Amino acid sequence: MSSRKGAFRNSPPSVNFFTSVDEENSDLSEAATVERAEERRLEQLKRMSAQDNATLKSVDSEIFDNGPFQQGFHSSGVNGHVVSSPFEISHYPIEIQENKIALQRQISHRARLESSTCQERDLMCLSPLSGHGIAEELERECLSPQHIEMHTFRDAIDVNYQRMALTGEELSGVPLEDLKTASALIIEALKLREEYMDRIGCHFPATTKHFLSGHFPRNLPKYRKKNTEQNVEPPVEPPRASPDDLDGVGAANTSFHPPEPPVDHWGLNDPLPTFPVVYRLERKHGVTQILGADGELVDTFRPYYISKDKFLKDTERLIFMITDGPLKSFCYRRLKYLENKFQLHVLLNELRELHEQKSVPHRDFYNIRKVDTHIHAASSMNQKHLLRFIKKKMKTEADTVVLEKNGKQTTLREVFEGLGISAYDLSVDMLDVHADRNMFHRFDKFNAKYNPVGESTLREIFIKTDNFVDGKYFAEVLKEVLSDLEDSKYQQTEPRLSIYGRSKDEWDKLAHWAISHDVWSPNARWMVQIPRLYDIYKAKKMIKNFDVILDNVFTPLFEVTNDPASHPDLHRFLQMVSGIDSVDDESKHEYVQFDRSTAQPEFYVDSENPPYSYYLYYMYANITVLNAFRRARGLNTFALRPHCGEAGHVNHLVAGYLTSESISHGLLLRKVPVLQYLFYLSQMGIAMSPLSNNSLFISYNRNPLPEYLMKGLNVSLSTDDPLQFHFTKEALMEEYSIAAQVWKLSSCDMCELARNSVLQSGFEDKVKIHWLGPSYREEGVIGNDVSRTNVPDIRVSYRYEAMVDELTNLFRTKHL
Ligand SMILES: [Zn+2]
Repeated sequence: MSSRKGAFRNSPPSVNFFTSVDEENSDLSEAATVERAEERRLEQLKRMSAQDNATLKSVDSEIFDNGPFQQGFHSSGVNGHVVSSPFEISHYPIEIQENKIALQRQISHRARLESSTCQERDLMCLSPLSGHGIAEELERECLSPQHIEMHTFRDAIDVNYQRMALTGEELSGVPLEDLKTASALIIEALKLREEYMDRIGCHFPATTKHFLSGHFPRNLPKYRKKNTEQNVEPPVEPPRASPDDLDGVGAANTSFHPPEPPVDHWGLNDPLPTFPVVYRLERKHGVTQILGADGELVDTFRPYYISKDKFLKDTERLIFMITDGPLKSFCYRRLKYLENKFQLHVLLNELRELHEQKSVPHRDFYNIRKVDTHIHAASSMNQKHLLRFIKKKMKTEADTVVLEKNGKQTTLREVFEGLGISAYDLSVDMLDVHADRNMFHRFDKFNAKYNPVGESTLREIFIKTDNFVDGKYFAEVLKEVLSDLEDSKYQQTEPRLSIYGRSKDEWDKLAHWAISHDVWSPNARWMVQIPRLYDIYKAKKMIKNFDVILDNVFTPLFEVTNDPASHPDLHRFLQMVSGIDSVDDESKHEYVQFDRSTAQPEFYVDSENPPYSYYLYYMYANITVLNAFRRARGLNTFALRPHCGEAGHVNHLVAGYLTSESISHGLLLRKVPVLQYLFYLSQMGIAMSPLSNNSLFISYNRNPLPEYLMKGLNVSLSTDDPLQFHFTKEALMEEYSIAAQVWKLSSCDMCELARNSVLQSGFEDKVKIHWLGPSYREEGVIGNDVSRTNVPDIRVSYRYEAMVDELTNLFRTKHL
């Protein structure tokens, strides 16, 4: 038995029928041996049929009988074991099992050879088997009339599953000329995004980058080794976190959990960094200028300034593209193709994916990392939680002064007496913060729901950071939310805190609030949201022009980067801030257009709100310079991750595509195939909240999330506002649970969404390597660690190969 095992291992089972011992020992590669045997087998079969062999065999039995337990096998020295006749279907259980395995191997060998044959021709396909010794075989294979040229990319790391490939000349469903024009436009749009992301220092996928630079498809990696534990290269991109924290990444201490954070997590005992040069800061055309001693822009930062004209020109170009008829149909077809291809992939590989997931010990959907990529701090608790908290405060702190109006101080008891409510009366119904069906398409009503019991005083007392009690209650309730998350361990969150831009000390107050109340958790990284409320401040005469808002929002950030000692708390707080968000009702009509005639921010005194893209452009323009400045000083940088495409005009998405690392919502993408395809090719993150959308803009069953997911867009699930939309303590799980049930998501889909959420999040590299694996930045299978993510390699491989296929299809026209 042992010798049989040995023989079985040394030679591929499908070879044995016609292979002599000599050949088995020859030094031909395994693949070549298989290939030769395969040919001989075919010859033999031909001969058999020519001789009108009386033995009748079905096609299936031919393949099945060509397994290891056959007469030919015995000739290699093994004997005495009873097996089925070579002309019968195997009926011993072990034979059936072994034959199935043999068949699988045979099919995968064949597929591999086919793809490497293509590579010999046009270098578009790759296989680890390509090399010396089999070239002639491949040549012959190419010439054989049965050979079909397969246009598909195959990752050098071999994952065994059923792939689909296309044959024939026309590969894109449109005439060659259309393909050429379409790809030229798509490539141009991708280049634009690459340029904008490079400037701000945000993520752009390496594969697409390589295609743009001309490095791919010619140099697609021929040999890649998957190693999830060692030889970890430090991340290529500049880290979000302070770089000293990245020490030790090379050593890759890759336990499944990040190391315990220091007790002094705000770094209160660490001295503030000092820098030799302190620059002069000045505001000009809505952007902070970093000036040297000579009063000129510092050269290092000069490339990071972007002009309004350039942005407008690029926007116009993109708007031309999204309305271009042929391009629209091209993108629509590609997206439909991707969607259907995924459905076929699932049809063929669902069981294998499931099996791969099951074979990972310990890991399941509950203990993989998932990040709530879009949630507002003010509504991060659910209604029951807020109710309980308010009741508790009414019982224990009724005599605390919580408000001061016109010099008159009011206690909590007096506030509730004024409302005519006792602690006993108060119920979730009375709190009335939950979304109801009257809110559909009524963002104004939704905003009003932030006021418990319909009273802005309660909102002021309980969910504001800057009030008479110094945001004490808000801090307490948030810390309860964070502590619940820590208990659940695998759920992380990125809550948004507000900076309004009404006064310059808002940042300092916010930082002081966070640090003095110690609102901190290893499960959270803060985001800062800037509401687009210029028109309201203007009407209330709080500000003179638009630049006042920009000045209040960005100048403190430049100052603290220039000299951390100028805002010590802010310096520490910013280390826990990963990104900046832009929020408000997108469905509001925009009365002003952003074009060359639109006033610069310092001259913008209109009573109407500036348009969405105006806000986004000035935020982008400031953040690019700020990030360059902070990078130069070794500080963490910020990503722009606005709410975008929830409602309103599709131009919002164009601005988002150029300026933002990822967006929240993206519902309107369903109407813009060109942008959707671009989002796919640049793997832009979309944090979607179908439950929130269901209450506000689009009913659950029409939400485009499942469609995006099928096409391979980088989508994640998030809660938006648990206070208004969720019923349970674990809002994020509620979101996943409903999505899984309504859309029948498989466990693999859910894990993929969770992995996307971690990738999109602003957690530092040093944390993500523990959650996703040390090579997580690599694209394709090599970056996936199934023991951490529970996403099967099959799924990741499918996504990667589909993406490279799309890009190859687009870029090959360059050489035609
Ligand atoms: Zn939101």
